[in-house]
Amino acid sequence: MLMDKTQESVWNNCLKIIKDNVPTISYRTWFEPIIPIKLENNVLTIQVPSPFFYEYLEEQYIDILRKTLRKELGSDAKLEYNVVMENNAFSNAKPVTVKIPANNKSDLKNKPVSVPLNLKENSIKNPFIIPGIKKLHVDPQLNPDYSFSNFVEGECNRLARSAGFAVANNPGGTAFNPLLLYGGSGLGKTHLAQAIGIEVKEKFSEKIVLYVNANKFTTQFVEAVRTENVNDFVHFYQMIDVLILDDVHEFAGKEKTQEIFFQIFNHLHQSKKQLILTSDKPPVELQGLEQRLLSRFKWGLSADLQIPDYETRIAILNKKIYNDGIEMPSDVIEYIASHITNNVRELEGALISLLAQSTLNKKEITLDLAKQMIDKLVKNTKREISIDYIQKVVCDYFSMPVDLLKSKTRKREIVQARQIAMFFAKNLTKSSLATIGSQIGGKDHATVLHACKTVNNLIETDKRFRVYIDEIEKKLKM
Ligand code: ADP
Ligand code: MG
Repeated sequence: MLMDKTQESVWNNCLKIIKDNVPTISYRTWFEPIIPIKLENNVLTIQVPSPFFYEYLEEQYIDILRKTLRKELGSDAKLEYNVVMENNAFSNAKPVTVKIPANNKSDLKNKPVSVPLNLKENSIKNPFIIPGIKKLHVDPQLNPDYSFSNFVEGECNRLARSAGFAVANNPGGTAFNPLLLYGGSGLGKTHLAQAIGIEVKEKFSEKIVLYVNANKFTTQFVEAVRTENVNDFVHFYQMIDVLILDDVHEFAGKEKTQEIFFQIFNHLHQSKKQLILTSDKPPVELQGLEQRLLSRFKWGLSADLQIPDYETRIAILNKKIYNDGIEMPSDVIEYIASHITNNVRELEGALISLLAQSTLNKKEITLDLAKQMIDKLVKNTKREISIDYIQKVVCDYFSMPVDLLKSKTRKREIVQARQIAMFFAKNLTKSSLATIGSQIGGKDHATVLHACKTVNNLIETDKRFRVYIDEIEKKLKM
């Protein structure tokens, strides 16, 4: 007996063929979420979860969709999409139907239709465009001040800068993919990464560029999980041509975020899209990041930004002064450059405070004024205390090797020292609980939280313990 064809049976037969012809991961991502909803007059209607999804299918899989559908329904088969439009977080999902015949190339062969094929820029692959969604507009989140022309080149950044420039001129097409820029705080990672984005936008305005900080990415992901929009989240990121992810070390200990980023990373890399990452350490030293992610980072190029030498510091100051249209005696510039030595952000900060001082007090900018201000500034800028340094000081204090603290040992004294280190790391650094945990004994954020509570309790209840803490704190701040 011949069964009537249903949308399910037709779609399932299509899927069987598709499954054999696309990579498993793509199949799962792009075909499993599709729901066949109607079969009428040889038109199969499928529901896709988002506009991004629809666009992506159209770009990548229209051929196989057409072939399989025609095999099932004959040459006049048609396909329609039912696109679920995301309205807001509460998603009163309003399906929008877009008619998309299994059409194009082969139909054109039979009866030449006047399709403006010559209009390269505006040509629309599919005549049944949903108004407003085809041109995916993504604000790239770039700050125009962070351009290449504002980035002073020096020995300290030569490799990173030229690799960045090469990438900007040929995004996705160089061996530098991903490009990982690393270096200490305030040395220009964000600036350079943004410069690449700005340059790409200037040269290839149609490319979708997006700058995002790792923390923001994490927040977006958490929100997507909460509102059950993870698919859209992933699809959105998979549409980007040049993805700049700043401060990837912030992913430490955030396993779910790393997992989703891993998926996005693979997809973009496979599609020859450009990835630019920054981190505060070279990949080998990035703790709390999954090995498979780290090994991906090594596929491209890692380039470091070092502390600028004296000449470069002078050049940076001069550039800022010039850009701001101000004047400053050269002995003042030299004084700043020779006293603020290890961080470009602080260099800029000094310049800004000096300007503020002179404006507010209506004093001329003189070497004396600069000296007064900078001496104060240098005294006040606390050395940034690192988690490693905290572990070293705590271990020295209790005369135990640092390795023991980092190990999994659950011996009482070691556990206590570890808790103290966590407590100080929480109070004296800006690191997240997850980062602290992963660096001190490979623990999770809950353990760190618990450690801080325990230490606080002991400080209040145990006099001797309190003395330890005070003494260690003094050593840390020396
Ligand atoms: P990071 O991301 O490494 O912490 P940023 O990129 O935020 O550092 O840089 C800190 C400040 O220093 C920014 O205002 C940036 O414009 C400036 N800066 C850093 N490197 C340079 C450079 N080579 N030329 C000009 N300005 C720089
Ligand atoms: Mg930065």
